[in-house]
Amino acid sequence: MEFKDLKLDARIQSAILGAGFTKPTEIQSRAIPIVLAGSDLMASAQTGTGKTAAFVLPALNRLLKASKKSGNGPRALVLTPTRELALQINQHVRQLSRGSKISSGSIVGGMAYHPQLKMLRGRLDFLVATPGRLLDHMEQRKVDFSRIEILVLDEADRMLDMGFIDAVTEIAAAMPKDRQTLLFSATLEGPVLKVANQLLKSPKRLSLAANNQRHQLIQQVMYHADSKAHKQKLLEFHLKSGRIFKSLIFTATKRGAEQMARALQVKEIKSAALHGDMSQNKRRQMVENLRKGRIETLVATDVAARGLDIKDISHVINFDLPTVAEDYIHRIGRTGRASATGYAISLVGPADWNKLSQIEKLIGEKVKREIVDGLEPTSGEPRKTPKARARPVARAKSRLKTAKTAQTKKTKKSKMSANDASGAAPYKPGSWRKSKPATKRTKSRATKPTRKAA
Ligand code: AMP
Repeated sequence: MEFKDLKLDARIQSAILGAGFTKPTEIQSRAIPIVLAGSDLMASAQTGTGKTAAFVLPALNRLLKASKKSGNGPRALVLTPTRELALQINQHVRQLSRGSKISSGSIVGGMAYHPQLKMLRGRLDFLVATPGRLLDHMEQRKVDFSRIEILVLDEADRMLDMGFIDAVTEIAAAMPKDRQTLLFSATLEGPVLKVANQLLKSPKRLSLAANNQRHQLIQQVMYHADSKAHKQKLLEFHLKSGRIFKSLIFTATKRGAEQMARALQVKEIKSAALHGDMSQNKRRQMVENLRKGRIETLVATDVAARGLDIKDISHVINFDLPTVAEDYIHRIGRTGRASATGYAISLVGPADWNKLSQIEKLIGEKVKREIVDGLEPTSGEPRKTPKARARPVARAKSRLKTAKTAQTKKTKKSKMSANDASGAAPYKPGSWRKSKPATKRTKSRATKPTRKAA
């Protein structure tokens, strides 16, 4: 399918061209006709699939027709879990509405109230917001929802995880009943389905094999570490290997992120921390520093890195594995964007095995084991991890079934040498350099993308 087949307004078509999009992604070609036809929609699709444009484009198309209602209030509202995501979606709206005279803006926490109030008083067609701050304005009767025609719940699963359920339902309840509602989520099960049943009217449903498609571009490996100090050595080895172009390191805590960024600076690795305690401006500045290459690595917590869209992040490194397996998918989705090959490295310490096993259940395959010469673990991998805290992994189960045929029976270990670091060409996205040829102890499949479950 081509963009011209989607029957979007000519002004939007030219903005699409201006954005450099040549062909619609799968979610775009499947979702846009449904939204243009006026149906409610629930779709499982994640960041990196082009889902933002999948709802922004048909929403803009709708806004090009004059509103039947008078007033200044927004006609389209996107609710999204984090500030970064909201700001990015707003940028997308601006980019795709170029030449359309559609006004747009964002309302997010951590920013001054006054400019937001000023914006809400003026004409605003397209609003992107995080639920907490928008509810604040709503309770003070500063937002006029009477003209809303289309409501988008973006990353609905994450909004629920973050405790925004009441805010979302309260906001939705304040909107005209005849609106169109779209819900995008990594999963369409459990609490998300409940919310969808509550807020959507006879929705069409789209399920994309998004994770698998996207993650074919991401090579995932793990290194077994004996301790935190061992993890630190492995991390420094990788950061100094010359293969990493731009990286995002995940830690479990804000303090951990701060400490790690400082420790790396001491080792002359240009790095900075990114976490929820930093002001919005500071966070934006750090992201820009990484985007522009002023630093090589950002050490982040999950909340801060949500929605981050930097096209050339070559590596995501999980220094601490996420407690919630789904976050692993979100994290590694920060690399391998816009068709570049990405690389996801997980450092698995004694306390991480349960988390790893939940992640492997969710993605439906074993993460490839690798060792670094000179930095091998002293202990073996636990044969069986104790039962982990139950997480809803229904999606994983169905994927696991399919995965069984595709998955290799045994986990293969491959080995990198610490000596590989010397003289290695700098890593560029899409140009993953082969590991050393197999030696006696090496059964390397490191360069071959593992087949993902369908
Ligand atoms: P998203 O999944 O919405 O976060 O989008 C991921 C990235 O893909 C963003 O950088 C978009 O600008 C880009 N993108 C979205 N749609 C297309 C398309 N049809 N062709 C190429 N890139 C796209």
